[in-house]
Amino acid sequence: MKAFTVIFYVLLLTLTIQNSCQTTNSTNDKFHPGINNYLVPVNSKGAYVGEFAKESPSSQEVISISNDLSGLFEIDSRGRLKLKKDKEAVPEDDVFKYELTIDINGMEKKIVVVEDVFLSNKVVAHRGAWKNTGTSQNSMGSLKNAIKTGSAWSELDIWLSADRVPVLSHDAVIGGINIEESPIKEIKKLALANGEFVPTLEECLDLIMTQNKTRIFIEIKPSAISPERTILLAKETVNLVHSKKAQGWVKYISFDINSLIAVMEQDPFAEAAYLGSDKTIEELHDLNFWGVDFNRGMFENNDNLVDDAHELGMTVNVWTVNDPQTMQHLLDLGVDFITTDQPEILLSMIAQQQD
Ligand code: MG
Repeated sequence: MKAFTVIFYVLLLTLTIQNSCQTTNSTNDKFHPGINNYLVPVNSKGAYVGEFAKESPSSQEVISISNDLSGLFEIDSRGRLKLKKDKEAVPEDDVFKYELTIDINGMEKKIVVVEDVFLSNKVVAHRGAWKNTGTSQNSMGSLKNAIKTGSAWSELDIWLSADRVPVLSHDAVIGGINIEESPIKEIKKLALANGEFVPTLEECLDLIMTQNKTRIFIEIKPSAISPERTILLAKETVNLVHSKKAQGWVKYISFDINSLIAVMEQDPFAEAAYLGSDKTIEELHDLNFWGVDFNRGMFENNDNLVDDAHELGMTVNVWTVNDPQTMQHLLDLGVDFITTDQPEILLSMIAQQQD
Protein backbone atom coordinates (compact mmCIF):
# COMPACT_ATOMS: atom_id res chain seq x y z
CA MET A 1 0.00 0.00 0.00
CA LYS A 2 2.86 2.30 0.96
CA ALA A 3 4.61 1.61 -2.37
CA PHE A 4 1.38 2.37 -4.20
CA THR A 5 1.03 5.68 -2.34
CA VAL A 6 4.63 6.66 -3.21
CA ILE A 7 4.07 5.82 -6.90
CA PHE A 8 0.85 7.82 -6.85
CA TYR A 9 2.63 10.91 -5.45
CA VAL A 10 5.57 10.56 -7.88
CA LEU A 11 3.07 10.43 -10.75
CA LEU A 12 1.22 13.43 -9.33
CA LEU A 13 4.49 15.38 -8.98
CA THR A 14 5.52 14.52 -12.55
CA LEU A 15 2.16 15.68 -13.90
CA THR A 16 2.37 18.90 -11.86
CA ILE A 17 5.89 19.66 -13.18
CA GLN A 18 4.79 18.92 -16.77
CA ASN A 19 1.76 21.12 -16.29
CA SER A 20 3.81 24.02 -14.92
CA CYS A 21 6.23 23.72 -17.88
CA GLN A 22 3.26 23.83 -20.27
CA THR A 23 1.94 26.90 -18.46
CA THR A 24 5.31 28.63 -18.98
CA ASN A 25 5.30 27.68 -22.66
CA SER A 26 1.75 28.80 -23.19
CA THR A 27 2.62 32.15 -21.55
CA ASN A 28 5.42 32.53 -24.10
CA ASP A 29 3.07 31.48 -26.89
CA LYS A 30 0.78 34.29 -25.85
CA PHE A 31 3.53 36.91 -26.04
CA HIS A 32 2.31 39.70 -28.28
CA PRO A 33 4.94 42.08 -29.67
CA GLY A 34 2.65 45.07 -29.29
CA ILE A 35 2.84 48.23 -31.37
CA ASN A 36 5.45 49.64 -33.76
CA ASN A 37 5.67 53.00 -31.95
CA TYR A 38 5.17 53.91 -28.30
CA LEU A 39 5.82 57.64 -28.58
CA VAL A 40 2.86 60.01 -28.65
CA PRO A 41 3.29 63.26 -30.62
CA VAL A 42 2.54 66.25 -28.39
CA ASN A 43 0.30 69.26 -29.08
CA SER A 44 -1.20 67.49 -32.07
CA LYS A 45 -4.93 66.66 -31.98
CA GLY A 46 -5.87 63.32 -33.50
CA ALA A 47 -2.20 62.38 -34.01
CA TYR A 48 -1.40 58.90 -35.29
CA VAL A 49 0.61 56.79 -32.83
CA GLY A 50 1.24 53.33 -34.26
CA GLU A 51 0.16 50.02 -35.67
CA PHE A 52 -0.14 46.67 -33.91
CA ALA A 53 1.65 43.52 -35.00
CA LYS A 54 -0.40 41.16 -37.14
CA GLU A 55 -0.36 37.38 -36.96
CA SER A 56 0.29 37.38 -40.71
CA PRO A 57 0.40 40.12 -43.35
CA SER A 58 -3.05 39.13 -44.66
CA SER A 59 -4.75 38.50 -41.31
CA GLN A 60 -7.65 40.69 -40.22
CA GLU A 61 -7.12 41.59 -36.59
CA VAL A 62 -10.05 42.73 -34.44
CA ILE A 63 -8.52 45.42 -32.23
CA SER A 64 -10.14 47.51 -29.53
CA ILE A 65 -9.11 49.47 -26.44
CA SER A 66 -10.53 47.78 -23.36
CA ASN A 67 -9.07 50.24 -20.86
CA ASP A 68 -7.85 53.82 -21.27
CA LEU A 69 -8.23 55.93 -18.13
CA SER A 70 -7.03 59.02 -20.04
CA GLY A 71 -9.85 58.81 -22.58
CA LEU A 72 -7.46 60.24 -25.18
CA PHE A 73 -7.00 57.29 -27.53
CA GLU A 74 -8.97 55.34 -30.11
CA ILE A 75 -8.44 52.62 -32.69
CA ASP A 76 -9.22 53.76 -36.22
CA SER A 77 -10.94 51.72 -38.94
CA ARG A 78 -7.57 50.32 -40.04
CA GLY A 79 -6.80 49.03 -36.53
CA ARG A 80 -4.23 51.74 -35.76
CA LEU A 81 -3.78 53.55 -32.45
CA LYS A 82 -4.31 57.28 -32.58
CA LEU A 83 -5.43 60.20 -30.45
CA LYS A 84 -9.11 61.07 -30.75
CA LYS A 85 -9.84 63.88 -33.22
CA ASP A 86 -10.41 66.49 -30.50
CA LYS A 87 -7.74 65.23 -28.06
CA GLU A 88 -4.06 66.03 -27.74
CA ALA A 89 -1.16 65.11 -25.46
CA VAL A 90 -0.09 68.21 -23.55
CA PRO A 91 3.49 68.18 -22.25
CA GLU A 92 2.87 70.97 -19.75
CA ASP A 93 0.53 68.94 -17.54
CA ASP A 94 1.67 66.34 -14.98
CA VAL A 95 0.78 63.24 -16.98
CA PHE A 96 3.31 62.08 -19.57
CA LYS A 97 2.62 58.36 -19.96
CA TYR A 98 -0.58 56.43 -20.54
CA GLU A 99 -1.34 52.80 -19.79
CA LEU A 100 -3.71 51.21 -22.27
CA THR A 101 -5.18 47.73 -22.38
CA ILE A 102 -5.63 46.59 -25.96
CA ASP A 103 -7.74 43.63 -27.03
CA ILE A 104 -6.28 41.98 -30.13
CA ASN A 105 -8.30 39.06 -31.45
CA GLY A 106 -9.45 38.35 -27.88
CA MET A 107 -5.91 38.54 -26.50
CA GLU A 108 -5.06 41.24 -24.00
CA LYS A 109 -1.91 43.35 -24.31
CA LYS A 110 -1.13 46.11 -21.84
CA ILE A 111 1.09 48.87 -23.18
CA VAL A 112 2.39 52.21 -21.98
CA VAL A 113 2.70 54.99 -24.53
CA VAL A 114 4.67 58.08 -23.64
CA GLU A 115 4.57 61.73 -24.69
CA ASP A 116 7.48 62.32 -27.02
CA VAL A 117 9.48 65.13 -25.54
CA PHE A 118 12.58 62.95 -25.45
CA LEU A 119 15.82 64.84 -25.98
CA SER A 120 17.21 64.75 -29.49
CA ASN A 121 20.87 65.58 -28.79
CA LYS A 122 23.20 62.84 -29.95
CA VAL A 123 24.73 62.16 -26.56
CA VAL A 124 24.88 58.59 -25.21
CA ALA A 125 26.32 58.51 -21.68
CA HIS A 126 28.52 55.39 -21.69
CA ARG A 127 27.57 53.22 -18.65
CA GLY A 128 25.69 56.27 -17.38
CA ALA A 129 27.33 59.60 -16.53
CA TRP A 130 29.96 58.68 -13.94
CA LYS A 131 33.38 60.05 -14.89
CA ASN A 132 32.85 63.64 -13.82
CA THR A 133 30.36 62.92 -11.07
CA GLY A 134 32.33 60.59 -8.81
CA THR A 135 29.79 57.80 -9.06
CA SER A 136 30.21 54.20 -10.23
CA GLN A 137 29.71 52.97 -13.80
CA ASN A 138 26.50 51.04 -14.47
CA SER A 139 24.92 52.25 -11.23
CA MET A 140 21.61 53.90 -10.39
CA GLY A 141 23.70 57.00 -9.62
CA SER A 142 25.29 57.06 -13.08
CA LEU A 143 21.88 56.58 -14.72
CA LYS A 144 20.41 59.41 -12.60
CA ASN A 145 23.34 61.60 -13.63
CA ALA A 146 22.84 60.78 -17.31
CA ILE A 147 19.28 62.08 -16.90
CA LYS A 148 20.49 65.10 -14.89
CA THR A 149 23.12 66.08 -17.47
CA GLY A 150 20.46 66.12 -20.18
CA SER A 151 21.98 63.28 -22.20
CA ALA A 152 19.40 62.00 -24.66
CA TRP A 153 20.55 58.46 -23.95
CA SER A 154 22.35 56.33 -21.40
CA GLU A 155 24.05 53.07 -22.27
CA LEU A 156 23.99 50.21 -19.72
CA ASP A 157 25.59 46.75 -19.74
CA ILE A 158 23.73 43.68 -18.54
CA TRP A 159 24.43 40.07 -17.54
CA LEU A 160 22.07 37.32 -16.41
CA SER A 161 22.31 36.06 -12.83
CA ALA A 162 22.23 32.31 -12.17
CA ASP A 163 18.53 32.65 -11.33
CA ARG A 164 17.79 34.60 -14.52
CA VAL A 165 17.71 38.20 -13.33
CA PRO A 166 19.28 40.77 -15.71
CA VAL A 167 21.85 42.71 -13.68
CA LEU A 168 23.98 45.75 -14.52
CA SER A 169 27.71 45.25 -14.86
CA HIS A 170 30.37 45.76 -17.48
CA ASP A 171 32.36 42.70 -16.44
CA ALA A 172 31.39 39.07 -15.83
CA VAL A 173 32.94 39.18 -12.37
CA ILE A 174 32.26 42.03 -10.00
CA GLY A 175 33.71 42.29 -6.49
CA GLY A 176 34.91 38.68 -6.78
CA ILE A 177 31.40 37.43 -7.63
CA ASN A 178 30.71 35.80 -10.98
CA ILE A 179 27.30 37.16 -11.93
CA GLU A 180 26.27 34.28 -14.17
CA GLU A 181 27.08 31.73 -11.46
CA SER A 182 25.48 33.60 -8.56
CA PRO A 183 21.87 34.10 -7.47
CA ILE A 184 20.57 37.64 -7.35
CA LYS A 185 20.42 37.67 -3.55
CA GLU A 186 24.21 37.15 -3.41
CA ILE A 187 24.86 39.76 -6.12
CA LYS A 188 22.64 42.24 -4.29
CA LYS A 189 24.96 42.09 -1.26
CA LEU A 190 27.78 43.61 -3.33
CA ALA A 191 28.50 47.27 -2.76
CA LEU A 192 29.86 49.37 -5.61
CA ALA A 193 32.64 51.91 -5.05
CA ASN A 194 30.04 54.66 -4.58
CA GLY A 195 28.36 52.67 -1.79
CA GLU A 196 25.33 51.66 -3.87
CA PHE A 197 24.32 48.07 -4.47
CA VAL A 198 24.51 46.47 -7.90
CA PRO A 199 21.31 47.45 -9.72
CA THR A 200 19.02 45.11 -11.60
CA LEU A 201 17.76 46.08 -15.04
CA GLU A 202 14.26 46.20 -13.53
CA GLU A 203 15.33 48.94 -11.12
CA CYS A 204 16.79 50.91 -14.04
CA LEU A 205 13.59 50.53 -16.07
CA ASP A 206 11.57 51.77 -13.08
CA LEU A 207 13.83 54.81 -12.87
CA ILE A 208 13.96 55.63 -16.57
CA MET A 209 10.16 55.44 -16.79
CA THR A 210 9.77 58.24 -14.21
CA GLN A 211 10.68 60.76 -16.90
CA ASN A 212 10.53 61.29 -20.67
CA LYS A 213 13.72 63.11 -21.59
CA THR A 214 16.39 60.34 -21.54
CA ARG A 215 16.19 56.81 -22.97
CA ILE A 216 18.50 53.80 -22.67
CA PHE A 217 20.56 51.52 -24.87
CA ILE A 218 20.68 48.10 -23.19
CA GLU A 219 23.89 46.25 -24.07
CA ILE A 220 23.40 42.47 -23.88
CA LYS A 221 26.75 41.03 -22.81
CA PRO A 222 27.78 37.70 -24.39
CA SER A 223 27.66 34.92 -21.80
CA ALA A 224 30.95 33.40 -20.65
CA ILE A 225 29.09 30.11 -20.05
CA SER A 226 27.37 29.38 -23.38
CA PRO A 227 25.82 30.97 -26.49
CA GLU A 228 22.47 29.60 -25.28
CA ARG A 229 22.76 31.66 -22.11
CA THR A 230 23.33 34.82 -24.16
CA ILE A 231 20.07 34.08 -26.00
CA LEU A 232 18.39 33.45 -22.66
CA LEU A 233 19.57 36.88 -21.44
CA ALA A 234 18.15 38.45 -24.62
CA LYS A 235 14.79 36.75 -24.12
CA GLU A 236 14.59 37.52 -20.40
CA THR A 237 15.42 41.14 -21.20
CA VAL A 238 12.64 41.46 -23.79
CA ASN A 239 10.20 39.76 -21.39
CA LEU A 240 11.18 42.19 -18.64
CA VAL A 241 10.93 45.27 -20.89
CA HIS A 242 7.45 44.15 -21.98
CA SER A 243 6.29 43.25 -18.47
CA LYS A 244 7.38 46.73 -17.29
CA LYS A 245 5.82 48.18 -20.49
CA ALA A 246 9.07 50.08 -21.04
CA GLN A 247 9.35 49.65 -24.83
CA GLY A 248 9.11 53.42 -25.41
CA TRP A 249 12.30 54.01 -23.45
CA VAL A 250 14.52 51.18 -24.73
CA LYS A 251 16.75 50.09 -27.60
CA TYR A 252 19.11 47.12 -27.72
CA ILE A 253 22.80 46.75 -28.61
CA SER A 254 25.29 43.87 -28.41
CA PHE A 255 28.52 42.40 -29.75
CA ASP A 256 26.60 39.12 -29.99
CA ILE A 257 24.60 39.32 -33.20
CA ASN A 258 22.53 36.24 -32.37
CA SER A 259 21.28 37.82 -29.16
CA LEU A 260 19.97 40.81 -31.14
CA ILE A 261 18.38 38.52 -33.72
CA ALA A 262 16.67 36.73 -30.79
CA VAL A 263 15.44 40.11 -29.48
CA MET A 264 13.95 40.96 -32.89
CA GLU A 265 12.43 37.49 -33.31
CA GLN A 266 10.62 37.89 -30.01
CA ASP A 267 9.65 41.52 -30.66
CA PRO A 268 9.84 42.46 -34.36
CA PHE A 269 9.33 46.11 -33.34
CA ALA A 270 12.38 46.14 -31.05
CA GLU A 271 15.12 48.39 -32.42
CA ALA A 272 18.63 46.96 -32.32
CA ALA A 273 22.10 48.06 -33.38
CA TYR A 274 25.11 45.78 -33.72
CA LEU A 275 28.39 46.73 -32.07
CA GLY A 276 30.63 44.45 -34.12
CA SER A 277 32.50 45.30 -37.32
CA ASP A 278 32.41 41.88 -39.02
CA LYS A 279 29.17 42.59 -40.93
CA THR A 280 28.55 45.08 -43.71
CA ILE A 281 25.87 47.72 -43.39
CA GLU A 282 23.95 45.92 -46.15
CA GLU A 283 24.10 42.60 -44.28
CA LEU A 284 22.80 44.26 -41.12
CA HIS A 285 20.06 45.98 -43.10
CA ASP A 286 18.98 42.64 -44.55
CA LEU A 287 18.76 41.28 -41.00
CA ASN A 288 16.35 44.13 -40.12
CA PHE A 289 18.74 46.02 -37.89
CA TRP A 290 17.66 49.52 -36.89
CA GLY A 291 21.21 50.80 -36.74
CA VAL A 292 24.93 50.26 -36.75
CA ASP A 293 27.04 50.97 -33.67
CA PHE A 294 30.67 51.12 -34.77
CA ASN A 295 33.97 51.65 -33.07
CA ARG A 296 35.35 55.13 -33.75
CA GLY A 297 38.23 53.60 -35.74
CA MET A 298 35.79 52.49 -38.45
CA PHE A 299 35.24 56.14 -39.41
CA GLU A 300 38.91 57.07 -39.78
CA ASN A 301 39.30 55.82 -43.34
CA ASN A 302 35.73 55.71 -44.51
CA ASP A 303 33.79 58.94 -44.62
CA ASN A 304 30.95 57.22 -46.53
CA LEU A 305 29.84 54.97 -43.67
CA VAL A 306 27.29 57.44 -42.36
CA ASP A 307 25.78 58.16 -45.77
CA ASP A 308 25.72 54.45 -46.64
CA ALA A 309 23.78 53.65 -43.45
CA HIS A 310 21.43 56.61 -43.83
CA GLU A 311 20.66 55.68 -47.43
CA LEU A 312 19.38 52.35 -46.11
CA GLY A 313 17.34 54.13 -43.43
CA MET A 314 19.64 53.03 -40.61
CA THR A 315 20.96 55.01 -37.65
CA VAL A 316 24.66 55.40 -36.85
CA ASN A 317 26.11 55.27 -33.34
CA VAL A 318 29.84 55.48 -32.53
CA TRP A 319 31.73 54.26 -29.44
CA THR A 320 33.57 55.36 -27.31
CA VAL A 321 34.59 58.92 -28.06
CA ASN A 322 36.07 61.11 -25.35
CA ASP A 323 38.15 63.74 -27.16
CA PRO A 324 36.50 66.90 -28.51
CA GLN A 325 38.36 66.75 -31.84
CA THR A 326 36.98 63.31 -32.75
CA MET A 327 33.55 64.30 -31.41
CA GLN A 328 33.58 67.26 -33.80
CA HIS A 329 34.72 65.12 -36.75
CA LEU A 330 31.86 62.68 -36.11
CA LEU A 331 29.31 65.46 -35.68
CA ASP A 332 30.48 66.87 -39.02
CA LEU A 333 30.04 63.44 -40.61
CA GLY A 334 26.42 63.48 -39.40
CA VAL A 335 26.37 60.48 -37.05
CA ASP A 336 23.16 60.06 -35.04
CA PHE A 337 24.64 59.14 -31.67
CA ILE A 338 28.03 59.42 -29.99
CA THR A 339 28.73 57.17 -27.01
CA THR A 340 31.04 58.89 -24.55
CA ASP A 341 32.41 58.83 -21.01
CA GLN A 342 32.35 62.64 -21.26
CA PRO A 343 28.70 63.52 -21.91
CA GLU A 344 29.18 66.97 -20.36
CA ILE A 345 31.83 67.92 -22.96
CA LEU A 346 29.80 66.67 -25.91
CA LEU A 347 26.63 68.35 -24.62
CA SER A 348 28.36 71.71 -24.30
CA MET A 349 29.86 71.36 -27.81
CA ILE A 350 26.43 70.62 -29.29
CA ALA A 351 24.82 73.47 -27.30
CA GLN A 352 27.45 75.96 -28.55
CA GLN A 353 26.85 74.93 -32.15
CA GLN A 354 23.11 75.45 -31.77
CA ASP A 355 23.56 79.01 -30.44
MG1 MG B 1 28.73 48.73 -23.00
